[in-house]
Amino acid sequence: MKRLLATIGIYFIASATFLSAQPHSVKLGNTLIQWLQFCSHPSPGISWVHVHENETTSVAATRALIDSLGKGCLVSWRHSPDSLQPQRYDPNRIYTPEGLKKTLQANGAYSKPGFTAAQRVARQFISKYVDGNRLVVALHNNSDGGGLHIKSYLPGGEYANDAAEVFVNEAEDIDDFFYTTDRRIFDFLKARGFNILLQNNASVTNDGSLSVYCGYQQMAYLNIEAQQGHLQEQKRMMLAVFDMIETLFK
Ligand SMILES: [Zn+2]
Repeated sequence: MKRLLATIGIYFIASATFLSAQPHSVKLGNTLIQWLQFCSHPSPGISWVHVHENETTSVAATRALIDSLGKGCLVSWRHSPDSLQPQRYDPNRIYTPEGLKKTLQANGAYSKPGFTAAQRVARQFISKYVDGNRLVVALHNNSDGGGLHIKSYLPGGEYANDAAEVFVNEAEDIDDFFYTTDRRIFDFLKARGFNILLQNNASVTNDGSLSVYCGYQQMAYLNIEAQQGHLQEQKRMMLAVFDMIETLFK
């Protein structure tokens, strides 16, 4: 028994130290972009993705869970802090040509060479961390009562066209919700009582986000969208996601 406990202890220490960060660097104009990958034992076919560097709660919750459960790989975007220019695009609006053009124009940064360079970066990211997976899980944080919440997707809401179906649990905070392209994921998490919407791949606005890219590719995508600072709620959401993966993506 003592020996078994010691073995388990060693296993946990080993799995905790397994968490490694492998940076991959790319340049976009004067900006250095790093994709940091944190891995415990990888779960093949499942990719965890964090693109908005300032949304810190989501990444903290995921790293803690990947570390303690001992499985999964998370990739996180970083922009060089000494970059002379402010970031002139949204890293979640670059995955379709239409979306990329719009985000560069909105930031006054559109030029043909700039577009081509940014598209190269987007394609590199997609081929390294998105394509070929069975499930992409994206992590985002929003602000309390800010622009985006689950009710934005209800009929009459600002983003109603993006949703095929919406489930609202009135007992939950409207800022904490899931967003998916996959019917089975929608049904699973709805049954657990979480706010969730199913993207309408035909009518969704082509804004170049990862959900649109995955929708067009018929890939299963799930976004955990939760209020910045809601660490406990995000851990609860994340545990349900690990359960969902065990059930639907074994
Ligand atoms: Zn975000």
